[in-house]
Amino acid sequence: MRFEALAKSHNRESVRIEELEKRSDLFAKNVFNNSKMLQFLTNEAYSKVQAAIFSGNKIDRKIADQVAEGMKAWALSMGATHYTHWFQPLTGATAEKHDAFFDLMPDGRGIEKFGGGQLVQQEPDASSFPSGGIRNTFEARGYTAWDPTSPAFIYKTTLCIPTIFVSYTGEALDNKAPLLRALHAVDEAATGVAQYFDKNVRKVHATLGWEQEYFLIDKALAQSRPDILMTGRTLVGSSAAKGQQLDDHYFGVIPNRVLSFMSALEKQCMLLGIPVKTRHNEVAPNQFELAPVFEEANLSVDHNLLLMDVMDEIADKHGFKVLFHEKPFAGINGSGKHNNWSLATDTGVNLLSPGSTPMKNLQFLTFFINTIKAVDTYEELLRSSIASASNDHRLGANEAPPAIFSIFVGKQLSDVLDDLEGVSKGKLSPEEKTELKLNVVGKIPEILLDNTDRNRTSPFAFTGNKFEMRGVGSKMNCAKPMTVLNTIVAKQLVDFKKEVDALIDKKNLKKDEAVFNVLREYIKTSKRIRFDGDGYSKDWDTEARKRKLSNNKNTPKAIQVLTSKDSLALFEATKVMNDKELVAHQEVELDNYIFHLQIESSILNELVYNYIVPATLKYQNLLLENIAGLKDVYGAAHKKLTEPQLNILEKMAEHMVAAKKLADLMTQAKIKSDKATSIAKKAQSYCDDVKPYLDQIREHADALEQLVADELWPLTKYRELLFTK
Ligand code: ADP
Ligand code: MG
Repeated sequence: MRFEALAKSHNRESVRIEELEKRSDLFAKNVFNNSKMLQFLTNEAYSKVQAAIFSGNKIDRKIADQVAEGMKAWALSMGATHYTHWFQPLTGATAEKHDAFFDLMPDGRGIEKFGGGQLVQQEPDASSFPSGGIRNTFEARGYTAWDPTSPAFIYKTTLCIPTIFVSYTGEALDNKAPLLRALHAVDEAATGVAQYFDKNVRKVHATLGWEQEYFLIDKALAQSRPDILMTGRTLVGSSAAKGQQLDDHYFGVIPNRVLSFMSALEKQCMLLGIPVKTRHNEVAPNQFELAPVFEEANLSVDHNLLLMDVMDEIADKHGFKVLFHEKPFAGINGSGKHNNWSLATDTGVNLLSPGSTPMKNLQFLTFFINTIKAVDTYEELLRSSIASASNDHRLGANEAPPAIFSIFVGKQLSDVLDDLEGVSKGKLSPEEKTELKLNVVGKIPEILLDNTDRNRTSPFAFTGNKFEMRGVGSKMNCAKPMTVLNTIVAKQLVDFKKEVDALIDKKNLKKDEAVFNVLREYIKTSKRIRFDGDGYSKDWDTEARKRKLSNNKNTPKAIQVLTSKDSLALFEATKVMNDKELVAHQEVELDNYIFHLQIESSILNELVYNYIVPATLKYQNLLLENIAGLKDVYGAAHKKLTEPQLNILEKMAEHMVAAKKLADLMTQAKIKSDKATSIAKKAQSYCDDVKPYLDQIREHADALEQLVADELWPLTKYRELLFTK
């Protein structure tokens, strides 16, 4: 397999891509967006859909029929033959079940049919999607329901309708339903606070711009490795002589084959309305990044999921396999997906952007400090939202960003916060007000020059006009961290408004005095979360412990907090998830974790028994034959000549014995873990008792790779995977 794959990869040529059309002409051609709606919907249907998008109003059946009619007409005009409800089950991937528009009339004629009923709700066979026990046999049905806030689109010949996925009793079986509720909560809470500063604000939406990192590996080479195929990462593999030490890949010239992949991908993204903008090489060899212009968070999440599907497909056409895994290769950087987040009003203001007047800056500070306070209060919960078996290799290991949550704000804003901490309690003297307006709030520049955390080690950094959440895994659905972030900020803003209103009503303070008073306390009480230093040094570990910040290095531990008293109360108060949903979602996460380790350990066992040991034996035999031959010819004098062979033989035997023994111990450990009495205990046992074997076995496997003759080694090597262009 290895040598065939290498030959294939060497002979590959890049697919020629012609870009004849301007991107703006292609943009959203395949999306049922505003302009298509205006063309294909009645005025009434159009305005009802707009109202639903703006305020979450329900769309009644009559209107749904009209919308469906318009959507169908557009889809057919674009050559679509099928439609599907496109949803995000808790498996982490997207799901779809296609139905043809085609239908048969009683008289035997064929027609194209699609009505409001099919648009609004479907009942896919939900029984094989994870539900964490929400669906017992009595309520086994799950429904997908239309999400009008994310426009339908055509992919290939299918009209895809973004939907939520809920149980018969209304519990979320997906990642989208909780996200939509969180976005609604933050809209209400933030609008209330934004109105302190501008009465005209009617709506606030969260914005998200993700930066997708990934590896591109030749398809044939990827297929030659069972571990990559089954787990998305290499479980063994000795480091290539050249890694990323030379730093010659980062922002370097993009190889031709990759460039044509990127062009084809971007073209498809344009058609689907995914506003991709930036592409470049990343730090590790064969690692790249792609980033769009930011969008409303729900749409942005959908676009990221769609993008990952499209990437898989286009890569395949170009002879590549995309690796989204957070740590596909040992010894070089892993991949993440920074989530840039902010809040924007319907009046066009970015609430996390400093402005040109003291009033605008007070608004900025309000949202800025409330976000800090929210992250401080719920740091452990936010950490839990980015926990996964694959992301543990980054967050729990010695890679940036660390598993400890902290916030980088930069020197300029740190100074502003320090000044605000000294604001007097209660009413402010006219002098103090002037001083604040002129010299503190008024001095925040609109553009914060030093505001980039150059080391990129902070998990939550303020970068000028947005926060950047850096721990999100490259493979992850952004809905999870976005749900938690928007929920905690919503809760925080509700609390803030209560406190400010109380000071205004009961203590007779002016609005800005009240705001200053509350912010001052927040700055004081959330200090521990602010940290501008190197996020993954030993010192910070110790310091973080002193500050009582959580440091959960693995997923089973990190997600415990999901069902803590505080979390249940938070999600209840914000109406984002009820107890039943949280317990269920946690269970699904634990299940996923266990599956993950079960698969990895089985594959590694197979690699040891069926690949590594046999290859070693072959080479051993070759050496033995050679030694016997030399002995035949030279008699007693052979000893001097066979010393190196014997030495290699012994070294190989040592590592082979160890690898096999550890593989057997790992199997025994799995049997023991499987007997755990609860799913939480089982996950923790897989983490503590099974997982360590993966690294230990790898050590011996990699040592064998270095000993066995190259032509006998069956697994494609790192240098081949990473340096074949
Ligand atoms: P980098 O972080 O690599 O320096 P940028 O700062 O230009 O790059 O932005 C990275 C990402 O941040 C982009 O995807 C961009 O769309 C997104 N972004 C910029 N402004 C906002 C915002 N207000 N809300 C959400 N995302 C934003
Ligand atoms: Mg960034």
